Order: sequence, then C-alpha cells, then structure tokens
Amino acid sequence: MNYCPRCGAKLGSKVDGGRERPACLVQGCGFVHFGDSSIGCGAVVIRDNKALLIQRGINPNRGAWQIPGGYVESDEEILSAVEREVLEESGVTARVLDVIGVRHAVGTPTANIYVVFRLEPLSGEPRFDGDETIGAGYFSMSELEQMDRVQSFSTWSIKRALELPPGCGMTLDRGGVNIGRAGWSLFGLNP
Ligand SMILES: [Zn+2]
Repeated sequence: MNYCPRCGAKLGSKVDGGRERPACLVQGCGFVHFGDSSIGCGAVVIRDNKALLIQRGINPNRGAWQIPGGYVESDEEILSAVEREVLEESGVTARVLDVIGVRHAVGTPTANIYVVFRLEPLSGEPRFDGDETIGAGYFSMSELEQMDRVQSFSTWSIKRALELPPGCGMTLDRGGVNIGRAGWSLFGLNP
C-alpha cells in the first residue's frame, strides 16, 4: 500500500501499537494501515432441535454441507450481515439470539475472525437456488452424522447450540455503555 485510501496522499510510516506501520502523515487524516483482515459470520438456526444446513453449489468444496454464513462488509453491522446471509442462502428469516463461538486465524495472507451466532427462525421454509446453493434443510444431529461432507466447524457449532440453551452465549447489550464508533454492537456475558 503506497497511497492513503482515505485522502490519496503518499503514505509515510509511524510507530503505532509497538510496530512501524504504513501511515498517512497528512494533518487530520490519521489513517494507519494495521494489516489486512476480514470478518466472517455464521448462523446456527435451530428449529425443533434441528439445524439449518445449506449445500454449497460453488467451489471450493461444491457439494459440502455447512451452516449459512459469509463475509461481513466493512460498512455493515454484523447482526444485519448474519441475518442477510441466512436469508440469501436459505430463504429463512431469522433473528440472532446469542454468540456460540469466535474463530480466529492469522493472516495467510488475510487474518480472519469468524463469529458464529445462534438464531431463531421467524419465517420461511428452506430453499436453494440451484446455483450458489444446491440443497437446504433442517437436520437433526443424528441425520447430520449420516451425511457426507458436513463441514466440521459447522458440526462443532451445531453441537454447542443443541447442548446449551439459548442465552448461554454472549448476548447483545445496548445499555450502559457509550462506544464512540459507527455501527457498533456489543455482545457480552449475560448475568
Ligand atoms: Zn490520508
């Protein structure tokens, strides 16, 4: 990265957070390049002790089964992102209940954080478009164990959701805190 993505000036460098980093030295801009990272989200949607799975229609891993999910756009709230992914990939409208897990991976080349949420379905029956998704449905744990090619991280997430009741995970908290950032959401332990 040679130019500032905010103001277009040629980047210099400065020490921030204990490391020398590419940075914009234009007064009032303040851009610092902390490295490339991406955020993903996944959805465990549970209905009658069964979990919503979709079958991938595109490579990599065409034909594999997994929970719905995808990337969180940089200008999108994470709750909107996960509910959007569920609707786009399965046709199900669902609402977030709590956080099941957080997976982090270091940058090769991009660092990634993937947050798995538990959701309750509100409306819509699972459907697939035959292109991006070639299958969709609710499956019990025993059905899932009989299926070929279920992504192991999906199985891990579904097991946690079926073993522990809603609200065990971190829940959305909007009270008593003032976060000075746009589009923020805070999930925390619920007393
Ligand atoms: Zn700048």
